[in-house]
Amino acid sequence: MSRRVSIFGATGSIGQNTLSLLRRDPGAYQVVALTGDRNIEVLAAAAREFGAEVAVTADETRLGELRTALAGTKVEAAAGAAALIEAAARPADWIMSAIVGAAGLAPGLAALKHGTTLALANKESLVTAGPLLLATARRDGARILPVDSEHSGIFQALGGAPVDSLSRVIITASGGAFRDWPLEALEGATPEQAASHPNWDMGQRITIDSASMFNKALELIETREFFGLPASQIETIIHPESLIHALVEFRDKGILAHMGPPDMRHAIGYALHHPERSDLPLEPLDLAAIGQMTFRAPDPARYPALTLARQVMEIGGLAGAVFNGAKEAALDAFLDRRISFTAMAVVVGKVIEKMSAEGLGKAAITLESVREADQMARRHAFDTAARR
Ligand code: NDP
Repeated sequence: MSRRVSIFGATGSIGQNTLSLLRRDPGAYQVVALTGDRNIEVLAAAAREFGAEVAVTADETRLGELRTALAGTKVEAAAGAAALIEAAARPADWIMSAIVGAAGLAPGLAALKHGTTLALANKESLVTAGPLLLATARRDGARILPVDSEHSGIFQALGGAPVDSLSRVIITASGGAFRDWPLEALEGATPEQAASHPNWDMGQRITIDSASMFNKALELIETREFFGLPASQIETIIHPESLIHALVEFRDKGILAHMGPPDMRHAIGYALHHPERSDLPLEPLDLAAIGQMTFRAPDPARYPALTLARQVMEIGGLAGAVFNGAKEAALDAFLDRRISFTAMAVVVGKVIEKMSAEGLGKAAITLESVREADQMARRHAFDTAARR
């Protein structure tokens, strides 16, 4: 019997990689919902190819365009936030959550409420509302499988061992586009330069977040939320080759590392076939040709986002939502050339400082409170950026 699958963020980098894996065995899957935002042509093409039940664009103004692109097919066209929730509620065995940013939270939650398996690439959901997401999954008998390569790596290396058998988890970072730039040159870095990653082929926003290490900052918080580890047991290390994605150190100081090609189809495929292991169209690593792997400690002066992540974990509560909202607004300001590359961390730091005076750590985490914190953080970040 074929498995019913949906992909949220089907037009993006993770979404397209997921579709490429489904394409290898189309008879095995029945595609329920595919979603996108602005790339209507790509969305419609995928919906046609896979015979999806419904295609949804988050952008209500593009519904007419989507309808036209799907004319003559049986695929329903829908648009807007409510349509995304409706699509997430359609029965499915496996749902990929790969919308970028905080917009991924509500559809992911809606999917969990229906007891599905959620393959979670959208790290922002865990950063902004980890306890809500995990409690919903527990209550409604749903399962979350990590897709971020580091978290998939931890999950795989753990192999079901209890988290209290760990003494430490180390997630690796490539160091991003500016790893070897002189510090004083960072101020003048452009969005185009930041959007070129040394090892991974990813969406534009996450690639720039890799250069600033905001991506790794989100992943530190994601690790704490998903695995329930204290911040003091989570570390990051620069590993320029991006071959080891995560290491778990057990209490007896034995370490298991998860290693694999720097290609997201590994982590996506792992989540798609879990608990089985299936063949994936990836080149095996040639260790003799690679020769060596290197590691170095991240420099806090180069990567202030990592220090901010520690503050956020200490504050707790809605601090993750504020951090992510401020980070997204600061990234928009950088992309629009309103602020410099280095100003992003300054802006986010100021927003956290301002909002932490407002009892962030103690506030209850609900979809509504997360939305409010996110919106307020974006406004503060916008104003702070405008003053620079
Ligand atoms: P992309 O930018 O490539 O794709 C983002 C997807 O989200 C697209 O389908 C886009 O639609 C859609 N989208 C954008 N804005 C909205 C919105 N407001 N509402 C609904 N949908 C929206 O991102 P990635 O695929 O790179 O990343 C997706 C998620 O996976 C992110 O959370 C990222 O952090 C995470 N991730 C990505 C990795 C990677 O290798 N790319 C690795 C690990 C995690 P459209 O294109 O039609 O505008």
